[in-house]
Amino acid sequence: MSQSVCILGVTGSIGCSTLKVLEQHPDQYSVFAITGYSRIKELSEICKQFRPKCVVVPSAKMDELQQLLKLQNIADIEILTDEAGLIAVAQHPEVDVVMAAIVGAAGLLPTLAAVKAGKRVLLANKEALVMSGDIMLQAAQDNNALLLPVDSEHNAIFQCLPQNYLQTERNGEPKQGVKQILLTASGGPFLNHSIEQLRKVTPAQACKHPNWSMGRKISVDSATLMNKGLELIEACHLFSIKEQFVTVVVHPQSIIHSMVQYVDGSTLAQMGNPDMCTPIAHALAWPERIQTHVPPLDLFVHSQLDFQEPDIIRFPSLRLARDAMKEGGLAPAILNAANEVAVASFLQQQISFLEIPQVVEHVLNYVQNGLADSIETILQTDELARQVASQRITQLESRS
Ligand code: NDP
Ligand code: MG
Repeated sequence: MSQSVCILGVTGSIGCSTLKVLEQHPDQYSVFAITGYSRIKELSEICKQFRPKCVVVPSAKMDELQQLLKLQNIADIEILTDEAGLIAVAQHPEVDVVMAAIVGAAGLLPTLAAVKAGKRVLLANKEALVMSGDIMLQAAQDNNALLLPVDSEHNAIFQCLPQNYLQTERNGEPKQGVKQILLTASGGPFLNHSIEQLRKVTPAQACKHPNWSMGRKISVDSATLMNKGLELIEACHLFSIKEQFVTVVVHPQSIIHSMVQYVDGSTLAQMGNPDMCTPIAHALAWPERIQTHVPPLDLFVHSQLDFQEPDIIRFPSLRLARDAMKEGGLAPAILNAANEVAVASFLQQQISFLEIPQVVEHVLNYVQNGLADSIETILQTDELARQVASQRITQLESRS
């Protein structure tokens, strides 16, 4: 039977890769709902090609979308707006699968709504899980939702773990013969830059990733290694494993997407050409496999695979994220909020690249940690951390 899919963040990099996979399997999947935020022209083109039943945009963009759809003689698509619209499509009874591909904290409530409605949730929006951690996982368990990782590293780890690993006790200890997780990192575009060189890098340079083509926010996160920090937290939650059992390994070629080490000396790796269509297809079809256009890996072409330790002096974001996970409570949400604000102001050229982790560290020291026992508390703390980050950025700007 055909599965009905909702794509939150369809106009983004993951959203487009998802469409690319779905397009290859029109008998197995249909697009029920899609959401966009600022790229309304692209959204209307996607409406034309995929004919969803619902589309969600900010209310300020409603007229623009209506006009574009009218020009294309499309009259049978329901337009919903704002966060209420995102939540409505994520939990819609006719939806089977939700791709959570909105960037940042804006994806939290819609993703949680999909989980609470017991959907198959394909999780790209790592920030939502970093913020909500146990609440999201408990909601998945309580509502029989399938939370499947799309982030390439977590998808790789999922593929390398024993089949029923996630169904057994969750106590932070590795189990079933697992010793540790090796989370691979490309190292980003500035892997070999000195501190002096890092001081001067521009948003355009930071957004030019050597192996992956991604949205601007995650590209900057990859350059600071905050992406790996967020992924460390994501892995701890998804696989219920304490941070000391997750080792970050820099692997510049991005051919191995992550590994699991076992007590008997085995190390299992998942490999493939770096293309998000592979983990998306895996999460869509699991436990089955479906075809993608991604060519098979040619090991004679990729004949050299290198590994090294990350440098937390030049890339302190990784240390900040690990410490936030160790501390627990609201610290990961504070880290995430501060980072989102700092990255946005780096992209607007208000602060420098090296000031991104400085802002995050300041906010972590300033905003009091506490129990992350409700979504309301997490959202209030997110808001407070954003205010403190903005104040810090204003101070930094006035100094320079
Ligand atoms: P993009 O910036 O390319 O896309 C983000 C999507 O979210 C767009 O559809 C955008 O709409 C929408 N959006 C942005 N802000 C809001 C908002 N406030 N409310 C509602 N929708 C919003 O990002 P990516 O696709 O690269 O990344 C998406 C998520 O997936 C991120 O969490 C990222 O960390 C994660 N991820 C991405 C990978 C990648 O390879 N790209 C790999 C692994 C994880 P619009 O474009 O119309 O403005
Ligand atoms: Mg990743």
